Amino acid sequence: MGKRIGFIGLGIMGKPMAINLLKAGYPLTVWNRTRSKMDELIAMGAYGASSPKEVAARSDVVITMVADSPDVEEVILGPDGVIYGAKPGLIVIDMSTISPIVTRRISEELAKKGVRMLDAPVSGGEKGAREATLSIMVGGPRDAFEECFPIFESLGKKITYMGPSGMGQIAKLCNQVICALNIQAVCEGLMLGAKAGLDLKKLLESVSAGAASSWMLINLGPKMIERDFKPGFKIRHQQKDLRLALELAAELNLPLPGTALVHQLLRIVEAEGLGEEGTQAAIVAMEKISGRKLSEGRP
Ligand code: NAP
Repeated sequence: MGKRIGFIGLGIMGKPMAINLLKAGYPLTVWNRTRSKMDELIAMGAYGASSPKEVAARSDVVITMVADSPDVEEVILGPDGVIYGAKPGLIVIDMSTISPIVTRRISEELAKKGVRMLDAPVSGGEKGAREATLSIMVGGPRDAFEECFPIFESLGKKITYMGPSGMGQIAKLCNQVICALNIQAVCEGLMLGAKAGLDLKKLLESVSAGAASSWMLINLGPKMIERDFKPGFKIRHQQKDLRLALELAAELNLPLPGTALVHQLLRIVEAEGLGEEGTQAAIVAMEKISGRKLSEGRP
């Protein structure tokens, strides 16, 4: 029989990932802080636990997909956390994007109880989570990685072992630096076109077929033009990731000028009250500093 999996955190990413594990046939226990988000999974056959501790007690592998470092600490080490339901041999896979330093600390705490931990953050957005096409960057003990490989295969299509604990998170921060600057590039290119009077839809079509094409341009460009800010990836989470990348760079004494600039520009978006919107709302910072809207959005 396949491993019994526990899943904690059924947000934009966690819910479709948990559904994919159910579809792959794994016996699944779920827990979410806001209990109503468990309903759909329970209706599909998952068991709804009353705490992260109970999730651990019922599982061979526990996956966490929450928000930031303190949240992962809370569900794993906090009162009623995973660690209190864990038996030796349990594997914890944290797929949230959090600090590599906090990851190592949690991993050391779990190791004292005979629990191995993998950090396995993902890239590919809500679409990648739904379609099980995520890129998964994994750090932690190699034997645990190999044992969990089939689980990763149910969630993603590119699975890469990056090295010891924390290295998955570091790879993800590099990914986020590239994504953030890419979004800013899309904002600037589109705004230049708008100000110069180009038809933005034609512009998008044309540049998407050339060397400027990217995931951000194809997926977020049309949403910027339509002013559809519904979140795939929230500005608030993007800011968390850029903060983590800048902290890592500071430790390494490495300048990341572009990342620092985008982090500041997104503060403008947050100050407009748009932190819960998707990263395509980055266009609002461009609009504020250029004194015009990109477009009128949907008619
Ligand atoms: P989300 O929709 O905001 O969901 C966050 C989830 O974490 C919710 O289930 C929330 O519970 C739970 N949570 C937060 N703090 C918690 C706490 N202290 N205790 C218990 N549960 C807590 O976020 P998301 O977009 O799914 O992102 C999840 C993680 O994946 C983040 O680390 C993000 O950076 C990363 N990520 C996201 C994307 C993306 O495109 N969305 C892509 C790659 C990676 P409630 O329901 O109770 O609020």
